[in-house]
Amino acid sequence: MTHVITAICTREGDCVEVCPVDCIVPGPTDDPKWNDLFFIDPDTCIDCGACVPVCPPEAIFPEEDVPEEYEADIQRNADYFTEGPGYWEYDFDYERSTFKGEPKE
Ligand code: SF4
Ligand code: SF4
Repeated sequence: MTHVITAICTREGDCVEVCPVDCIVPGPTDDPKWNDLFFIDPDTCIDCGACVPVCPPEAIFPEEDVPEEYEADIQRNADYFTEGPGYWEYDFDYERSTFKGEPKE
C-alpha cells in the first residue's frame, strides 16, 4: 500500500519535510503536465502516515481511503515516477512557492 497525494494539493511542501524515506517529490514547476502537485512514490512509501496531519489542505490519504472523486490520482502518483520526471534535483523553496507554474500569492 501507499499514501496518495490528491488534486487537493496546493504545493505547500510540508509533507516533504516530515517524510522519513524522502519519497515525496514536487512535479517540476516548469513542466505543465506535472506542475500542479507534489507526488508520492508508491514503491518507496512505508505508509507511516507522518505526512497526513501536516498537510494544510488535507490532500493526502492512505490509498484505500482516497475519496472517489480523486481515485485517478492513485495512478497519477505512480505514473509520475514511471512516466514522468520522477526524482530530480530541485530548489525546495522555489517549488513550494509555485502552483501550476505560477508564483503563489
Ligand atoms: S503538504 Fe499537502 S499541499 Fe503541501 S505539498 Fe504536501 S500534499 Fe501538497
Ligand atoms: S506515509 Fe510516510 S513514507 Fe509515505 S509519503 Fe507519507 S511520510 Fe512518506
